[in-house]
Amino acid sequence: MIEAVHLTKRYGAKTAVDGLSFTVRPGKVTGFLGPNGAGKSTTMRLIMGLDAPSAGSVTIGGRPYARLAAPLRTVGCLLDAKAVHGGRTAYRHLAGLAASNGIPRRRVDDVLDLTGLGEVAGERVKGFSLGMAGRLGIAAALLGDPEVLILDEPVNGLDTEGVRWIRNLLKSLAAQGRTVLLSSHLMSETELTADHLIVIGRGRLLADTPVRDFIETNSRARTVVGSPEPERLRDLLLAQGAAVRPGPRGGWCVDGLEAAAIGDLARAHGLAVHELTPVHSSLEEVYTALSRDAAEYRSRQEAAR
Ligand code: ADP
Repeated sequence: MIEAVHLTKRYGAKTAVDGLSFTVRPGKVTGFLGPNGAGKSTTMRLIMGLDAPSAGSVTIGGRPYARLAAPLRTVGCLLDAKAVHGGRTAYRHLAGLAASNGIPRRRVDDVLDLTGLGEVAGERVKGFSLGMAGRLGIAAALLGDPEVLILDEPVNGLDTEGVRWIRNLLKSLAAQGRTVLLSSHLMSETELTADHLIVIGRGRLLADTPVRDFIETNSRARTVVGSPEPERLRDLLLAQGAAVRPGPRGGWCVDGLEAAAIGDLARAHGLAVHELTPVHSSLEEVYTALSRDAAEYRSRQEAAR
């Protein structure tokens, strides 16, 4: 479990993380989202003890990182996939980490297998692609068999197969009861991988909610509707204030009116309906709409000043 309480980080006049409180729970993958500059990396560095908070605190399993008895066995992290020394082989890199952290050598083979790097274990890291370096970073994070995993943009540079691999790996680690915190700018990938979301903006908490609730609560009603009298249907919908665009199969794509309301409207006017399909928003659509609303709200506030 990771727990942040009023976590704050200031760099001079800039407040990168602003009174952030959240709990990342075991047994699920928690996605950590926010636009560039929102404070995600800073938060992750604070969790990992790489930077000290200006105020508040953050703990892993009840202790700040600096006070963990066996850090690598408690928390594994991948903050920057490229930050590995080039001259060593993958095996030497992991064996060095294992030795300096009191981790048995056999774990090196375990994590090389787990990350599909067994065959290139003897090659120098210098020649690794970004995707392979990412796998090596994950191998290092898993070396101590930690209860908590923190990954910053782990799918960067991975091909489709690698992306699927990491999705399944993270889900299975969570299913074993581990705590997994994952930042990504890829919404579709986050929607497929994460169970829970923590969303921040300008260093502040915007949402801390299950992915499904986030999408359901913030979705706009959208429905595909088809009728043998499409023009009449459109006029009725427009009169209700809905936005209407041409949709699939010759129907209309309607924003701003629930399927039930559309069905009732058609019935009240004696209009046949051949299709009536609610369309669920994706995380990407919901997130983009929320970010846009927040930006518009801010610019209105700023203009009013
Ligand atoms: P994210 O990871 O969400 O893109 P960051 O945590 O990297 O966001 O950055 C949050 C804000 O803090 C940004 O405005 C960034 O410019 C600022 N920031 C981050 N690190 C430093 C630093 N070492 N010195 C000054 N400002 C920083």
